[in-house]
Amino acid sequence: MFDIESLYQATGIQDAIRALQADERAMIISGGSDVLIQCREGRLAGCSLVSIHGIPELMGIEQAADGTVTIRAATSFSHIANHEIIRRTVPMLGDAVDQVGGPQIRNIGTIGGNVCNGVTSADSASSLWALNATLELHSASGVRQVPIRDFYTGAGKTVRRRDEVLVALHIQKKDYDGFGGCYLKYGKRNAMEIATLGCAAMVRLTEDRRHVADLRLAYGVAGPTPLRCVNTEDAARGMKTDEALLLHVAAGAVAEVNPRTSWRASKEFRLQLVSELAKRAVRQATLNAGGELDV
Ligand SMILES: Cc1cc2nc3c(=O)[nH]c(=O)nc-3n(C[C@H](O)[C@H](O)[C@H](O)COP(=O)(O)OP(=O)(O)OC[C@H]3O[C@@H](n4cnc5c(N)ncnc54)[C@H](O)[C@@H]3O)c2cc1C
Repeated sequence: MFDIESLYQATGIQDAIRALQADERAMIISGGSDVLIQCREGRLAGCSLVSIHGIPELMGIEQAADGTVTIRAATSFSHIANHEIIRRTVPMLGDAVDQVGGPQIRNIGTIGGNVCNGVTSADSASSLWALNATLELHSASGVRQVPIRDFYTGAGKTVRRRDEVLVALHIQKKDYDGFGGCYLKYGKRNAMEIATLGCAAMVRLTEDRRHVADLRLAYGVAGPTPLRCVNTEDAARGMKTDEALLLHVAAGAVAEVNPRTSWRASKEFRLQLVSELAKRAVRQATLNAGGELDV
């Protein structure tokens, strides 16, 4: 049974904002693949829901003249994974969301729900961190743009207020142009599996294709929120693309993360994954950037 007090289907963004303001207990439901599980488990018993499902202005993917890629918040994973703009500009993100759950979850689950639930295991989150995505939040007080690095405040917590609607995610050209990327997810099986660890790496090479011009390394489930290994990234710039680079990112990442032991895996095992996935993801990202590795 679903213990739901009320369900309102909003007709547009402003209508959703109005409904959220009118009922101080109301919360958003988009695809419902997190919310309905929590309703069923009793964690959201008696909730009031404002549905944003099917609102046209919240769906779709565009690329602006300056190259900025905009993904609207209620766009499903299936739509993102196969979209021409995503495949051409940020294929790592397409690969990441293609590893969520199974086909039914990817058809109903949205990227907005994946980010707004605030969980560290969200498969889109580490790629969006590596891509420096900006989140566009709308409320009765106006619109604010929040860089993803400022969005997460703790396990399952974000800066989004209850009455704010995430309308879109934006990725600027400078954050994807010339980069090769790779997202690797470790789980005990391939489908219907929440990540034990997720790792997103991006590499941009110098003109000679033998050195790192820029490197980004982000993780999910390596701490209470998704995170970036910024010290490791800074030190990697200028390094030759060889085994020393892979050893550097592996050791650097281990020093910057803070995973915990859960029923899924021990802290020690997660640290092993942090190290191994850093090497594999950076290696693949380098190859995807058109480079070679002397290993
Ligand atoms: C069987 C199963 C397998 C799963 N496997 C995976 C997996 O492998 N990887 C993974 O990352 N996730 C997985 N999930 C979790 C879930 O599918 C994702 O987190 C999904 O992205 C949630 O999106 P949704 O639209 O269904 O969100 P909802 O359930 O509708 O909402 C989730 C949260 O976000 C808020 N919200 C949603 N949209 C907005 C918005 N536009 N603005 C503001 N707040 C919003 C809601 O209020 C709620 O708090 C799985 C879930 C199930 C049931």
